[in-house]
Amino acid sequence: MPAIIPIPAFSDNYIWVVREGAAAAVVDPGDAGPVLAYLDREGLALTAIVTTHHHGDHVGGNAALLARFPVPVFGPAHETIPGRTHALVEGDTITVPGLGLALRVLDVPGHTAGHIAYVSLDSASPIAFVGDTLFAGGCGRLFEGTAAQMAASLAKLAALPADTRVYCAHEYTLANLHFALAVEPGNAALRERQTRDRGKRDRGQPTVPSTIAEERATNPFLRAGEPAVFAAAQAHAGRKLADAVDAFAVVREWKNGFR
Ligand SMILES: [Zn+2]
Repeated sequence: MPAIIPIPAFSDNYIWVVREGAAAAVVDPGDAGPVLAYLDREGLALTAIVTTHHHGDHVGGNAALLARFPVPVFGPAHETIPGRTHALVEGDTITVPGLGLALRVLDVPGHTAGHIAYVSLDSASPIAFVGDTLFAGGCGRLFEGTAAQMAASLAKLAALPADTRVYCAHEYTLANLHFALAVEPGNAALRERQTRDRGKRDRGQPTVPSTIAEERATNPFLRAGEPAVFAAAQAHAGRKLADAVDAFAVVREWKNGFR
């Protein structure tokens, strides 16, 4: 299993470097500068760019990286990705050049219309690169998709093996958990997670990756059908909600205005 290292970029992005020997692939390089600095410092050669969606803070570094390393660019088929050589849809599998890492593609629309995620085929050490779909303790905003699409995308990710390590693209965790506790103040696992993740941030460590088990237990966006979350959404909306998708939509709207 290759090592997976976060490179902080902009104010709160993580660009994930997957490295083995002298080879490295990069996931969602919004900025080439910190990636090139890392590759040079570590004496690594870039072998691939892996992209989840078209937003600038995920693809902004592609051109500059390709100028130095003319590598394959994997990305969603239904979005415009600079330098894309491999257009992917759900069910496709790729082997990341130089790393022997096999990944399966999932369609996870909602944040953007063509957003994809990458899930490892290695059941001994499962991983998922989820871009801006599932965050640690939260989920992406609905810029291009509907609540029903996002809820279905999150359900797909929630169905991954419990020990899957989830690599999202932003350090939003403490704000997400603050909101999650407003939704579900009686969730003991959520309180424990907040203490643990605060400790990590105090020590200057990333809170990412989390695991699917942790997200199922504490992330309100995966828990809209749980009685406590459903009831909180209903109280917040001030009306009877039809189903878990309705509750998910209310919780997503609630978070948009939450400070
Ligand atoms: Zn995005």
